[in-house]
Amino acid sequence: MSRFWSETIKSLTPYVPGEQPKLSQLIKLNTNESPYGPSPKAIAAIAGANNDSLRLYPDPNSDHLKQAIANNYQVKPNQVFVGNGSDEVLGHAFLALLKHQDPILFPDITYSFYPVYCNLYDISFENIPLKEDFSIEINDYLSYNQGKNGGIIFPNPNAPTGKALSKDQIETLLQSNKNSVVIIDEAYVDFGCESAVSLVNQYDNLLVVHTLSKSRALAGLRVGYAIGHPDLIEALERVKNSFNSYPIDKLAMAGAIAAIEDKAYLQKISAAVIDTRKNLVADLDKLGFITVPSTANFVFTKHPNKDASEIAARLREKHIIVRHFKLPRIDQHLRITVGTNQECKALINALKEIV
Ligand code: PMP
Repeated sequence: MSRFWSETIKSLTPYVPGEQPKLSQLIKLNTNESPYGPSPKAIAAIAGANNDSLRLYPDPNSDHLKQAIANNYQVKPNQVFVGNGSDEVLGHAFLALLKHQDPILFPDITYSFYPVYCNLYDISFENIPLKEDFSIEINDYLSYNQGKNGGIIFPNPNAPTGKALSKDQIETLLQSNKNSVVIIDEAYVDFGCESAVSLVNQYDNLLVVHTLSKSRALAGLRVGYAIGHPDLIEALERVKNSFNSYPIDKLAMAGAIAAIEDKAYLQKISAAVIDTRKNLVADLDKLGFITVPSTANFVFTKHPNKDASEIAARLREKHIIVRHFKLPRIDQHLRITVGTNQECKALINALKEIV
């Protein structure tokens, strides 16, 4: 704290990202990164862009990248916004589309960055409790304040639970919530959940946000994007051009285009994660863990007789890190990223000793 801080900064509670430890020889299952490397085509493209032209600014509009994303989802480039990680895209969306008189709605258990953006941009919000089984109940959103809200946002699948709604359920929500923006954060959608992107032409209030950090194995490159009606995209561009004109650097642009175009690689590594997840859940079952059905690259699990923070601490002693949230309703759960088969076997062996 300093007398030079603004009132806004004094009152912030910033987001705390999962730990990125400096130790080597760790089994890192705490921040939902891909256990596999990015597409070799992306790595080659980044290497190819590493040249003298870096003295020049990148294209501020990222036109080639938008075109690649538009081709991939069969939408128009003016329906695509790109940013420096989906966190930046989400941040812009909060300011551009969710700052209204009525509170915005999101689940009580969800991505913990959402309340941070609300705090930063002075947006009022209301938490809608998940059901006992951690599912999102659409009707709870529709019935809030007789249908009046400043917007709705949640991840699908939700984080940290991994539970998903079907595309039909998202459409039911959109059909009955036409007067505010609905943002579906699909960070983990490629691991077995239906995307809502195909609904963007029907619903002018739908914004779908994606990241290259998870299924495309490029968390280190920092690229995310949003797809929606051109008017929603224009709102995001207005924030971006009032904040940072060049969020996507030349190396990120080259790598992201190649990664988006390499659909075969995306399918291959997503299928591998889904396969490992199935075995991991079965192995956790055998140890008595109760695991929420997951369509993400992580599982959310608890043991009936062993304290979650103690399990996390004991795993850490064995150089395995998982995520534990000291939060109401979920402080007995652990969120565990699906690693390679070998990493998951090591995790299970460690858990056998602990529980
Ligand atoms: N949304 C959700 C639900 C997430 O879990 C994350 C990762 N922390 C993000 C968005 C942001 O991902 P990134 O900024 O790496 O694109």
